Amino acid sequence: MTVINDTIAAISTAPGEGGIAIIRISGPESLPVADKIFKCSSPRPSERQAPAVIHGYIISEGEMIDEALLLIMRAPRSYTREDVIEFQCHGGSISAKRILRAVLKEKVRLAEPGEFTKRAFLNGRIDLLQAEAVLDIIRARTDRSAAAAVEQLEGNLSDSFNDIYNTIIRACADLEAALDFIEDELPGSFMPDLIQRLKDARQKINNILSTWDEGHILREGALVVISGKPNAGKSTLLNALLGKDRVIVSPVPGTTRDVIEEQIAIDGIPVRLVDTAGLRTSECSLEQEGVRRARHQIEKADINLHVIDASKKMEPDDYQNIISFDPKKTIIVLNKIDLGIAVDQISFHGHASIKTQASVNKGLKEIKKEIVKKLGVSKGSVHQCVISERHRNILLASQGDLTEAIEMLDAHDDSYLVLVASKLRSTLERLALATGKKYHQELLDSIFNRFCIGK
Ligand code: GDP
Repeated sequence: MTVINDTIAAISTAPGEGGIAIIRISGPESLPVADKIFKCSSPRPSERQAPAVIHGYIISEGEMIDEALLLIMRAPRSYTREDVIEFQCHGGSISAKRILRAVLKEKVRLAEPGEFTKRAFLNGRIDLLQAEAVLDIIRARTDRSAAAAVEQLEGNLSDSFNDIYNTIIRACADLEAALDFIEDELPGSFMPDLIQRLKDARQKINNILSTWDEGHILREGALVVISGKPNAGKSTLLNALLGKDRVIVSPVPGTTRDVIEEQIAIDGIPVRLVDTAGLRTSECSLEQEGVRRARHQIEKADINLHVIDASKKMEPDDYQNIISFDPKKTIIVLNKIDLGIAVDQISFHGHASIKTQASVNKGLKEIKKEIVKKLGVSKGSVHQCVISERHRNILLASQGDLTEAIEMLDAHDDSYLVLVASKLRSTLERLALATGKKYHQELLDSIFNRFCIGK
C-alpha cells in the first residue's frame, strides 16, 4: 500500500478564455491552504456547519487576486478520497495561474498528469479499469464513445474481470488443496467439475474479447480510407463528407500526393477519414511514394471507399485493384453519375456499390449508411465493454493459459496438476494487473502519464 502524505494542486480547466477556471487541491494541506489564502465574504461558518460552497476572495501576500467560490470536499467523500478543495475563479488563464502560484507558496506541490485520478486509484475509490475510463471520457469524440466509457467507469468491465478472476481463484484454490490427496481419494466429479469451471472462465474471456472490434472503433475511431484513381473525385468526396473544403479539388490528375486525415462522426461513431494519392502507375518518384502510402492505408483500413469515375470504361488495372480488395470492408463508389454510366457493374466481385455525384453531395447518406453497416457497430453498443489494447493483451494471454490448463487436465496425467496450478496462478497475476489488484510503477506511469494535468 502506497502511503501518500503530500498535497498537490493544479489548474483543472483547459487553458484559454472561459466563464470560470478551477484550481484543484488534494491532500492534508488543502484545508489549511484555504484558511490561509481564502477570505469568506460573510463570517466563516463553524467547522461542522461548513457548507460545501463558500463565496469569498483569494488574497495572497496582502493582494486581492480574484473573487472566487471555495468548494470543500472532505475525505473520504471526494474524488481522491483525500481532503479536496477547489477554487472557482474567473476564467482566462491569468487569474487561475496567479491563484495556483499563491497555493504553491504553501506546503503544496504541482500535481503530475493524472495524479488526482491516480490518487483515487491508490486510495481504493476506483480500480485501474475505471481510471482508464476517466481518460476515455475526456478523450471521447462522440456520444456513443462517451456512453461506453461511462459504463466502464460505472464498473461494468471491472465486474466482468472480477467475475473471471473469482472463478479462477476458486478453481485454483480447490486444485491446490487437492494436490495433497492421491487421486483415488478425490470424488469422481472433481476433475470434470474443475475443467468445466475453467471452460466457463474461458468463455467469459471470449465474450469480452468479442467486443474488441466494436470497442476499438468507439475508442480509436474507424479508419475509413478513400482510394481510387486520380481525378475519380476522391477529394471531392472527402470534402463532401466533411461538409467543408479541406482538400484542393482540381481537374489535374494527381493533385493529392500525400495522405490527408480528418475526423468526423457518422451516426455517433468516430471516424478517421483519410484521402489518399490516386492509385495509378507513375514514373514520378513523389507520386510512387504517395501510391505506396495509399496501399498501406488501404491495408490498415476498417473501410475502403474505392472511388471510380463511373462515366469512363474501366481499364485492366481497375479490375486488378478491385479483385485485390477485401469485400468485407470495401465499398465501391461510382462517382460522376451525372456524366453517365460507362462502367461494367457486373465486375465488382461482390463488393457493395453506391452511385454518387460527390460534387453536389448526392449519395452521401447511402455511403454513410453502408459504412455503419459494414463496421457492424450496433445501436445497443453502449451496453458493451470497450476494451483497450492493454486489456485485450491480458485477456488473450489468459485465454491461452486456460486452454493449456484445460488440455493438461483433459490428459488425465497427475504429474500435470502442479503445472496447471502454477499456470492458473500466473493467469491470476495477469488479470490482477488489468484491474489494478496488483500494479507496478511502470504500469501506473504508462496509464496516468497519458492524462492531462489537473485530472
Ligand atoms: P481526385 O483526384 O480523385 O481527388 O479528384 P477530385 O476530387 O480532385 O476531382 C477531380 C475533378 O472531378 C474535379 O474537377 C471535380 O470537380 C470533378 N468531380 C468530382 N466529383 C464529381 C461529380 O460527381 N460529377 C462531376 N461531373 N464532376 C465531379
